[in-house]
Amino acid sequence: MDRMENHRHLLEQVGRRLLRRFGPRQFTLREEPLGSLFWTVLSQNTTDLTADRAYRQLRRTFRSWRDVRAARRGEVEAAIRVCGLAQQKARTIQEFLERLERERGALSIAFLGKMPADQAMDWLTASRGIGTKTAAVLLLFAFGRPVFPVDTHIRRVSGRLGFVPEGTAADKVQEALSAIAPESAADCAQLHLDIIRLGREICHPRRPECPKCPLRAICRHARVAEALHPSGRESTIRGHRRRP
Ligand code: SF4
Repeated sequence: MDRMENHRHLLEQVGRRLLRRFGPRQFTLREEPLGSLFWTVLSQNTTDLTADRAYRQLRRTFRSWRDVRAARRGEVEAAIRVCGLAQQKARTIQEFLERLERERGALSIAFLGKMPADQAMDWLTASRGIGTKTAAVLLLFAFGRPVFPVDTHIRRVSGRLGFVPEGTAADKVQEALSAIAPESAADCAQLHLDIIRLGREICHPRRPECPKCPLRAICRHARVAEALHPSGRESTIRGHRRRP
């Protein structure tokens, strides 16, 4: 088996084990792709709850995306202030709307659904403030394309499992995982959300709780830690050093 096949096989095992632990999820496409994109922009560096509040306020303040585009920057900033980085996010949203109008003549991104996924990624990430994660989240959850968005949890867990060297940049991790990801968008979404949950609840940045992890038997980090400390408790901090 070559390296890619090995990784594909490992990812399948990860998917099966996490599905057993966390259970199946319902996959439904998000409505209104443009709104979904802006919600994802608002969610950068904050919680989903706060992004929800900012998004609701944005929709309450302006009757349409056309009104958002035509508004003064300060009005958009005021509407989304609760989610932080309001200046930057307001600029991203307004510049994106201006670009849409200029290039496509309409405030809709439905055309992305007909583009090959890699071209759609390129089109989206050519906009300032839209990174590869935001673009991949949109393509997966609003258009049902089998791409694999990588956030900070997925990046960390992927390094520990051995898909990429630990510390690899997120867009490189996304490239590597997208090449071996499941073919269906529903399976991609399940795996994506399950790894994030694992990262939040078990595979913490500083002290992964390997003994209770469903991936322990197939994890490179856990294997190395156990080899270094065969009779001790699981290594719980980066570098496999035990706490005093
Ligand atoms: S075994 Fe440990 S390091 Fe590996 S994925 Fe699970 S919690 Fe993270």
